[in-house]
Amino acid sequence: MTSKVYFAEGRASGRKSNKISKILRLLERTGVKDMIRQDDLIAIKVHFGEKGNDTFINPIFVRQVVDIVKAAGGKPFISDTNTLYKGSRHNSVDHLITALEHGFSYATVNAPLIIADGLISGNFSEIEIDCKHFEKVKIAEDIINADAMVVITHFKGHMLAGFGGAIKNLAMGCSPAKGKMEQHSTRPQVVKKICTGCGECSENCPTDAIAIISKKAKINYSLCIGCGECLTVCPNRSMIMDWSTDKIEFVERMTEYALGAVKDKENKIIYISFLMNITPDCDCASWSDLPIVPDIGILASTDPVALDKACLDLVNSEKGLENSKLPDSHKEISDKFTAVHPDTRGILQIEYGEKIGLGSAAYELIVLGS
Ligand code: SF4
Ligand code: SF4
Repeated sequence: MTSKVYFAEGRASGRKSNKISKILRLLERTGVKDMIRQDDLIAIKVHFGEKGNDTFINPIFVRQVVDIVKAAGGKPFISDTNTLYKGSRHNSVDHLITALEHGFSYATVNAPLIIADGLISGNFSEIEIDCKHFEKVKIAEDIINADAMVVITHFKGHMLAGFGGAIKNLAMGCSPAKGKMEQHSTRPQVVKKICTGCGECSENCPTDAIAIISKKAKINYSLCIGCGECLTVCPNRSMIMDWSTDKIEFVERMTEYALGAVKDKENKIIYISFLMNITPDCDCASWSDLPIVPDIGILASTDPVALDKACLDLVNSEKGLENSKLPDSHKEISDKFTAVHPDTRGILQIEYGEKIGLGSAAYELIVLGS
């Protein structure tokens, strides 16, 4: 099966070609009016960005999606779930404060904010999927209860998954902390030779599993929940994973969670992804590095697998930016995210997503006229 992916280029030269009007055209082409019934509760799934990050989706774009959903008769709410790691979005109070500080106020986005897994991430239900790794997955209650969803994604790199697109937004983004833990479930190791004992990993470990002993990090595996946060924050790459098995299983577990998030929402989800500020790291990072390729545009589809594949292909067809994390950016690089995160292979998300019926890797790219 070939899925349709609609594409609007990022360039603009007048009022009718600005990004706001392109969001409207993209959502109309993906059938937003047919998807929404009068008074349906519509989850607008976003990522509010960790404090210190500045490349999360602009609230102005989210406002446009809200206005379109309201015009179609729906009752939208802006939503995300709490994080597994310590940080500025670990519980709903901190999470909402971070969202407000990042510009997601009612005055800006024209809809209420609801953290879908509750105050301390206990608001979830188990959804049967009967896959290789999980028979059931844990999905945030208010995602399950929503009649339909618009999943807004900033497409960028990710240290563990290779890239973060619509699949990852569904999987990590719609699960409570316990679900995120089940997806990660991996065991990092310290490379003692290069560990400087700086303590960053220890400070950020959500379970206090890391101690600094004789200026080296030491992990207590009876406390480690495999969240991967220490890999993200280590400035020296001295935390590593056994990627010979872990990388495949992590991506498969994540993709199975995405399947759980869409269960019972057939023809009830539209995905819109922004290929702008394509940074090497996720918006969960408390920083934003320079982009690895130039801005490309906005894409939309009803198929998350096809959409991620189209985004990946567009990124890989771009020239790398010389002042970025991309090594040898002047050369042709066929897989840019693996170039910045050498242990990853993001394409596994797409291959496994297709295998378990989440969507189709085959797509038709329909370019909207300017
Ligand atoms: S963050 Fe990295 S370098 Fe610093 S103590 Fe932890 S493992 Fe060592
Ligand atoms: S030691 Fe384990 S629990 Fe702590 S940050 Fe690393 S992966 Fe997460």
